[in-house]
Amino acid sequence: MTAEIKALGYVGLEVSDMDRWMHFAGDLLGIPASRRDDGSVDLRLDAYSCRIRLIEGARDDLAFAGWEVSDARALEALAVRLMDAGIAAERPGPEVAKDRRVRDLIRFSDSEGTVLEAFYGPLQRTDAPPVSPYGVRFKTGRQGLGHIVLACRDKARMMDFYTDVLGFRISDHIETEVISGRPLSISFLRCNGRHHSLALAPVPIPRKIVHLMVEAEQLDDVGRAMYRCLENGVHLSFTLGRHSNDEMLSFYPMSPSGFDIEYGWGGLEVDDEGWHVVTHATNSAWGHHFQRPPKKNADAG
Ligand code: FE
Repeated sequence: MTAEIKALGYVGLEVSDMDRWMHFAGDLLGIPASRRDDGSVDLRLDAYSCRIRLIEGARDDLAFAGWEVSDARALEALAVRLMDAGIAAERPGPEVAKDRRVRDLIRFSDSEGTVLEAFYGPLQRTDAPPVSPYGVRFKTGRQGLGHIVLACRDKARMMDFYTDVLGFRISDHIETEVISGRPLSISFLRCNGRHHSLALAPVPIPRKIVHLMVEAEQLDDVGRAMYRCLENGVHLSFTLGRHSNDEMLSFYPMSPSGFDIEYGWGGLEVDDEGWHVVTHATNSAWGHHFQRPPKKNADAG
């Protein structure tokens, strides 16, 4: 089947403490943040006018994930595919497209009610590149903005939706115990050369998003960001480590919303030709030690 979805284009996060988020993203992670007139915030990683949109609200969770397709024809084809699968998709219209800074979009949900958007024609600001206060440059391009991990209740159903309906390919699986005594099976899905743009994890947490990953171009930027986080009292949910499957060298600062950002470097690029699905026995080749959050931010687990 033809897969219309090319990349994770943007995400919207509903956050309850915008000021802390602006400090966390801008001053600690080195991602430039700017406020819009409506009070929401754009975080920029590249020429896209917005990659991560922060919207003020109580939920502290993923508000929407925006998947990019190549053009109007591909968007139409995806809309037809969803209809054929019996999934309702709406066209929110020009006002929402203008808000998302894209030419057009459709909106639908996955099997657990995650709000998904598919769009084409994102506004590019090559005239005004994002200026990171620490000179961080992020790896995006054809690999999209990074990856998201979603918590799910019925993983098999979610896998069917993302592979059979949306055309994602399975990269691999990890069968491990991130917390000892609790077996966990995580599956990793790709829609371009990035090892995964999406992972599905059956973990019992009270929100949809487990983490959002952004990838720096330089290893030093990961080290610098980690020490800025540590020096500013940010909790690291996982210490520095290297993942077994996508080889990402990363650490996981807990965002002001209680979910994690994975801040990485050196992720594997998948070559479809020679790829085969494997199962990894561990989350990481080394490091990534889980650290329990301070009580006030604690999720179940
Ligand atoms: Fe990750």
